[in-house]
Amino acid sequence: MNKSPHVLLFPFPAQGHINPLIQFGKRLVSKGVKTTLVTTIYLNSTLSHKNSTTSIEIEPISDGFDEGGYASADSPESYLKVFKEVGSKSLGDLIKKLQKEGNNIDAIIYDAFNSWALDVAMEFGIDGGSFFTQACSVNNIYYHVYKGLISLPLRVPVSVPGLPQLEWWETPSFVHNYGPYPGWTGIVFNQFANIDQSRWVFSNSFYELEAEVIEWMRKMWKLKVIGPTLPSMYLDKRLEDDKDYGFNLIKANNKECMNWLDDKPEKSVVYVSFGSMAQLGLEQMEEIACGLSDCKFNFLWVVRAEEEEKLPKEFANQKITGKGLVVAWCRQLDVLAHKSVGCFITHCGFNSTLEAISLGVPVVGMPQWTDQITNAKLLDEIWDVGVRVKANEKGIVTRENLVSCIMKIMEDERGVVTRKNAAKWRELAKAAVDEGGSSDKDIDEFVSELFKA
Ligand code: UDP
Repeated sequence: MNKSPHVLLFPFPAQGHINPLIQFGKRLVSKGVKTTLVTTIYLNSTLSHKNSTTSIEIEPISDGFDEGGYASADSPESYLKVFKEVGSKSLGDLIKKLQKEGNNIDAIIYDAFNSWALDVAMEFGIDGGSFFTQACSVNNIYYHVYKGLISLPLRVPVSVPGLPQLEWWETPSFVHNYGPYPGWTGIVFNQFANIDQSRWVFSNSFYELEAEVIEWMRKMWKLKVIGPTLPSMYLDKRLEDDKDYGFNLIKANNKECMNWLDDKPEKSVVYVSFGSMAQLGLEQMEEIACGLSDCKFNFLWVVRAEEEEKLPKEFANQKITGKGLVVAWCRQLDVLAHKSVGCFITHCGFNSTLEAISLGVPVVGMPQWTDQITNAKLLDEIWDVGVRVKANEKGIVTRENLVSCIMKIMEDERGVVTRKNAAKWRELAKAAVDEGGSSDKDIDEFVSELFKA
């Protein structure tokens, strides 16, 4: 029998982790590999709509929270513990079921956050591939901590290969503020626990973006760098109809956003989003609301439904239809690609980071926690596509500081430079995934290994 190779993709169940793995899957499908996305029963039941993933089968498994998912767990620690226990068993049951139905499974590509999935794969004699969804630079720092080469608690600057020296507070929050989130801290460092047993290691980055760090990591692992994993229509346009990630946990009111943006002059809008998980304090929400109202630019602000009640009353009641639009969710790629958008105030999640770079939009980095703090440094000082806004001693970004950063990008010389750099990165990102580009070559190499097996 000459069956196509078949790969299971197993992301951590969150929007920012599912997006890159799905897109990697679409690239594999385009090269003749059968691909199945394994997600949780809960997330599968809450999907706002499924499209563009038709080439990828979806198989839901239990994470132990079939009714309410992550939000219904008592704590992150209890979710992560139960996910590992129940997830290991249900992933094993899925493999048995698929094999019984006559399916070959040639590889399990698991999110490095779910490193225990490799143990399940090995139990069945299936090769595993660890997929890092965060920047190689960030993982480089985590690796040094994991190996004991950086000691915690950290209060001194750190140097790791391929990166300039970082102040202690520029490292990911799990490094410089070790302790408050033991579950998540365990997850990021455990990414390396069994990595040497993984046949492949993938990263959602692109070679040109982090060349020195990647070269250093390649001394240890056969790292394949396969991003940026934006839908193809925003980059190389080689995958027909690939316009959307296609596994959307929140429904976007895209028409409203696009109509509103269509009416605005070129590069006149500040787009603001803190991703799918960040929770801002009341005072911080007020400062943002006042900053956006005070500054002279139009704004489009994503405030997720569960955050909405934190909006100041007068702001929420205000008729901001002319200057501002607040939406619960949008199709961020369409917004960033729109000619009216001139600046992106972002929490610097790695998907948003790559999307800004790939669509050539300069940023104001306003990181909240985890890898976002280091991504903001990279965006500002290394990739030179934006500025970081400073928080005060209480950790709050004041309206004055926010407006001053918006002005820098929208009107000052810094804006001209960062826009130019963002356009350069956009070209490099497109070239990486286009035929013969660095990421395309790494995907081809993986596919040819699968076909040879
Ligand atoms: N996103 C979106 N609409 C929004 C806000 C975010 O589609 O209104 C998408 C965004 O394009 C990105 C993902 O949600 O792909 C967020 O991932 P990121 O890593 O930036 O942040 P996280 O949500 O993991 O904190």
